[in-house]
Amino acid sequence: MLSNIAARDVETLVHPYTNLATFRETGPLVLERGHGVWVYDTDGRPYLEGMAGLWCTALGYSNEELVEAATEQMSRLPFTHLFSGRSHDPAIELAETLKELMPVPTSKIFFTSSGSEANDTQVKLIWYMNNALGRPRKKKILSHRKGYHGVTVATASLTGLAANHADWDLPIPGFHHVACPHHYRGAEAGETEEAFSQRLADALEAQILAEDPDTVAAFFAEPVMGAGGAILPPADYFAKVQAVLDRYDIRFVADEIICGFGRTGNWFGSQSLGMRPATISFAKAVTSGYLPLGGISIDEPLYRAMLDESAKLGGFGHGTTYSGHPVACAVANKTIEIYKRDRIIARVAEKAPHFQARLTALGDHPLIGEARGIGLIGGIEIVADKASKRQYDPKAAVAARCVAFAQAEGLIVRFLTGDRIAVCPPLIIEPDEIDTLFERLTRALDRTAAWIKAEGLE
Ligand code: PMP
Repeated sequence: MLSNIAARDVETLVHPYTNLATFRETGPLVLERGHGVWVYDTDGRPYLEGMAGLWCTALGYSNEELVEAATEQMSRLPFTHLFSGRSHDPAIELAETLKELMPVPTSKIFFTSSGSEANDTQVKLIWYMNNALGRPRKKKILSHRKGYHGVTVATASLTGLAANHADWDLPIPGFHHVACPHHYRGAEAGETEEAFSQRLADALEAQILAEDPDTVAAFFAEPVMGAGGAILPPADYFAKVQAVLDRYDIRFVADEIICGFGRTGNWFGSQSLGMRPATISFAKAVTSGYLPLGGISIDEPLYRAMLDESAKLGGFGHGTTYSGHPVACAVANKTIEIYKRDRIIARVAEKAPHFQARLTALGDHPLIGEARGIGLIGGIEIVADKASKRQYDPKAAVAARCVAFAQAEGLIVRFLTGDRIAVCPPLIIEPDEIDTLFERLTRALDRTAAWIKAEGLE
């Protein structure tokens, strides 16, 4: 029997990324407030937010300084825009700060309101740039199977997940996917991480040659793959990929929408994973998730091409109403100030060994085939048989069941395709809270194992 508020929800809302059929039976978890790494439902029950919302609330909940920054900007100038030469100081200040922080040569910053819009803008600017440079055939875009880059028509095409393609008439032409750099699932018997990386880099090169390098414009990658399974590529993978991309003048776009702003123990995941991208997409933690904001870095060659093209066309025909919303920018300025002042990113690096040790220890659980991560992010994979890595029937939805048990234990984590579960808490999580997180997750796994037995799923 659904509560009153749950019943009202079911009658009125369509939820993103939800099994719309089973949801009618289960109803929503309605959250009401949050504090630190904790959120509370409408009955006042606390949950440790082990996913930082959707990989974004880096500074946790009810951060008063962020609330004040938003309130101050709201009362001073709640809205203006950046179209046609209009501007405001929160956007200018934020662009200055980001230019300095970016681990790539950055001439300018372009703001969006979401991660999807950031990557969509990347795709459009790559096409725009190659037209300006007189190479109109160089337009194809590569990305990983299981990569996640958004849900617009172009970015869902970049995304390499079946749920984003099947029956959506996607991907659109010109978007191609390459093998997922997941050693645990993709390696051949006895293949080292290095040999696996080399094989994938060779396959990437073969695919570029088959497509014709003059038609391949860009390669998109997340440093740590998030929604596709919280997957950490091998340490030398990106160096090998980079060499291939450099050979064919293919633009490397790092999707830092999850990893940006400290998640991996450096300001950007590119720094932790040895990537040398031309440009970065960011969103989420730039405002600690408090308001929607995203954007991309623009290097000088791209900016020059944009200048030429917009001179030729009489203007730059791209932008949305809320690109660089002043309240979102004010909150982002405060967020980054706190990251710096409170050594949030250095502290992630300090706390990471403890977090990773607890995560890796889950690999000893009878249900877990792989437990792996970096910084304060990690993924675990449930398997039916550790030796053969055999999985349970997807219809049994074992990881979803485990996440439901975790919720009953007062922990929020997220299930992903392939019976994987992501853990990605607010960056402010303290060591004792890390212990609580993994104790609850272990109990959820034990309950899942008991349920598997009771259901006869073995
Ligand atoms: N890229 C990555 C790596 C993401 O994790 C996400 C969102 N989970 C996106 C892009 C899309 O961002 P948004 O949902 O803000 O459009």
